[in-house]
Amino acid sequence: MAHLFEIVARHLRCSARLGVLHTAHGEVRTPAFVAVATRATVKAVSAAEVRALGVQLLIGNTYHLCLRPGPDVVAALGGLHGFSGWDGPWMTDSGGFQVFSLGAGKEHGVGKVASIFPGEARPKPTGPSLVKLSEEGVLFRSVVDGAWVFFSPEEVIRIQRLLGADIILPLDECTSPFHDRAYTKAAMERTHRWAVRALRAFEDTRGIGPNPAQALYGIVQGGVYEDLRRLSARVIAGLGFPGFAIGGSLGRSKQDMLRVIEWTVDELPEAAPRHLLGIGGVEDILGAVRRGIDIFDCAAPTRMARNGGLLSAREGNFRLNIKNARFRGDARPIEEGCDCPTCRRYSRALLHHLLRSGELSYFRLATLHNLRFMVRLMAAIRARITAGKALDLEGVREDLVGRP
Ligand SMILES: [Zn+2]
Repeated sequence: MAHLFEIVARHLRCSARLGVLHTAHGEVRTPAFVAVATRATVKAVSAAEVRALGVQLLIGNTYHLCLRPGPDVVAALGGLHGFSGWDGPWMTDSGGFQVFSLGAGKEHGVGKVASIFPGEARPKPTGPSLVKLSEEGVLFRSVVDGAWVFFSPEEVIRIQRLLGADIILPLDECTSPFHDRAYTKAAMERTHRWAVRALRAFEDTRGIGPNPAQALYGIVQGGVYEDLRRLSARVIAGLGFPGFAIGGSLGRSKQDMLRVIEWTVDELPEAAPRHLLGIGGVEDILGAVRRGIDIFDCAAPTRMARNGGLLSAREGNFRLNIKNARFRGDARPIEEGCDCPTCRRYSRALLHHLLRSGELSYFRLATLHNLRFMVRLMAAIRARITAGKALDLEGVREDLVGRP
């Protein structure tokens, strides 16, 4: 089936909606969490395990997959669906985030939402920019071999045609929370011109690659400036994309992020799916769902798992640090009531020991639990929308504690 988004129900007391995204490789029930599979795999776990957890959609990274193994290799093996062993729905991002993370993000020493408040000192640079931007596109320094690689809006579409994901994104420029209004505006306008070029390239490359049913979503930029965000959403919506992603700097606080979402959603067509790029905290997801966001991707749940941060609705901040000495002899599972393969069989004491000992099996067991937590979280959110219950943090926590 070609790409189609269907809204099944709307919440009466907020802007949350329940939907089904139909793709050529299966359905996605929304609100949904997308597991990050940067290099065509979720780190430490197999595609079959990811499917058994109830994960619906994966996102790969165009920049990394282009450098290695290369889009032609992936295309010859049936695209991401054939190559990776995950034959369910795939997304790929455009490399736009790497424009930021390898460029201004390094120079400004920041991530997606700067974790400081206005008035505090600016963070220190983490290194020189590895990116050269022009109207034509972006010159990147390869993280594989240091060679310069050129990404134009057209080349990024061609690469994603070969990778064959069901949902693909145009090249954009993510700005930093420390870019001023003038720079943010110029970058946004360039992103709009690149969106027009991407749409043309998408039409010109029909018939190329393993997946004829791809959908190209638009990306809204504009930083933390209300007029720019609204303008960007109107311009990108006016180009006729079938779905939309919210990208770029979401500000310096959670309040900034929620305002950016409100302005953007306000200008986007009601019937189209809305994806918030790179956000995956429990409270952030709830705030965004209440404001009408349908899809989230975030590397944090799997990255945190590998570093000892295990998700649990029974913890005040939804996470425990398994490295902590208090778990050394703890016979309980990570999260009581969790039905994941790890919690069904293994104790906190074992996970603590595996991580402390550097055993590779730790990464798999921890990742399985955190991904299952995200699947259960999104299912609880969907059930609350269906039942017309408030999407508040404590209500969702009770649902997660009460049943697997
Ligand atoms: Zn578990």
